[in-house]
Amino acid sequence: SLSQRLQNALGALRGKGRLTEADIAQAMREVRLALLEADVNFKVVSRFSIRATERCSAAEVLNSLTPAQNVVKVVLDELTDMLGGQTQTLELAQNKHPNVVMLVGLQGSGKTTACAKLAYLLKSQGKRPLLAACDVYRPAAADQLETLGRELDIPVYRGDGHNPLAIATESLAHATSTMRDVVIVDTAGRLHIDDAMMDEMYQLKVALEPDEILMVIDAMIGQDALNVAHAFAEKVDFDGVILSKMDGDARGGAALSVRETTGKPIKFISMGEKPDSLEPLHPDRLARRILGMGDMVSLIESAVKVQQDELREEEAQRLAHADLNLNDFLEMNKQIKKIGGISKFIGALPGGDRALSSGKVDEKIFERMETIIFSMTKEEREKPDCINGRRRARIAAGAGVSVTDVNQLMKKYGETRKMVRKMMPSLQESAEHFKKG
Ligand code: GDP
Ligand code: MG
Repeated sequence: SLSQRLQNALGALRGKGRLTEADIAQAMREVRLALLEADVNFKVVSRFSIRATERCSAAEVLNSLTPAQNVVKVVLDELTDMLGGQTQTLELAQNKHPNVVMLVGLQGSGKTTACAKLAYLLKSQGKRPLLAACDVYRPAAADQLETLGRELDIPVYRGDGHNPLAIATESLAHATSTMRDVVIVDTAGRLHIDDAMMDEMYQLKVALEPDEILMVIDAMIGQDALNVAHAFAEKVDFDGVILSKMDGDARGGAALSVRETTGKPIKFISMGEKPDSLEPLHPDRLARRILGMGDMVSLIESAVKVQQDELREEEAQRLAHADLNLNDFLEMNKQIKKIGGISKFIGALPGGDRALSSGKVDEKIFERMETIIFSMTKEEREKPDCINGRRRARIAAGAGVSVTDVNQLMKKYGETRKMVRKMMPSLQESAEHFKKG
């Protein structure tokens, strides 16, 4: 399975103290193969691979994790992004009665079942749904919906005509007269995309002005489903996807490809035939499930949290001691630079203070300072006390300035730092505030 393959790919890194570029490349190659084998679209895979490799080598890493764990974290984050990042919900207009949700998709994709499940979900959220049976082609499609509705105690409007458009518009009136606030429209599918079906969906869309058109995609068909989704997106357009049959031995490929190839979010996944088996998609949870490695992932997540807490604490400590590092110094000067621009403006106003305008910051000095600070390591910027003579020489060479320039900057920084220490009480207040936040 995909989980198994991913675990093997990443498991090979375990226990390695340091990862070389070759280690990462090898692991990424394995991950790529695993995704391709799971039927993830190849363009999606190559974009994934580029991003993940960049992030692994960009030293965007947590110290508290081993190199292998860091790679797993990158893969997990990227999988989450592929699944859309944030959980998406139904967007039903507030002032519209009734709201309309229309389900479209190929025959057998799971539309009728999903209509009932969605109605059940909305009912459990306090809505009063009505199901509309607009599939007039499939024998007994309306009966199927009616049976499901009866089980869930949700009314079904089936009309008696052969015209889906008429049934649909009647169902809206029926909803209003029976105080139903959301109509879920089941539509006809075909085995393949054809023009007649597209026309019908388009007419329904125009007549019903649905709040949401959801495309039901069978997770088991993989790549093919994407072509269908593309055709739909072009001709009818839709707002989101319900990925059905995720309980089967789907290889996960469809789930991972849908978002990037159609640009539409997966809003729900369907995990079985029971009415309560429709769930909103939580990209982080699904990514975790696809990746497997439950223990490792929990460990990573707690390490991320610890790291965040530590950073917060360190920052609070530093503020409590009113200690200014070079990052703060840079930020401060950026602000001053901005004010410099403003003071020039004020000085130019009639009655403006000429003296103020003469105090403007010299752009070149600021730029040089920035160049020097950018030539420092992260450690040097955060803990400037470690910057000794040798480091100064290296920084000067890196920034293309003289050591005297670096010395001048450090002197200025030292003075500012002292000044800030004097303002300690007010800073401590903000440190307290920071700690609470
Ligand atoms: P439609 O033609 O698009 O309306 O598809 P149906 O709703 O009639 O579903 C086709 C078949 O797939 C039925 O046998 C359903 O019970 C089954 N089905 C639908 N959704 C799921 C699911 O999430 N999991 C499983 N295992 N079966 C499903
Ligand atoms: Mg159906």
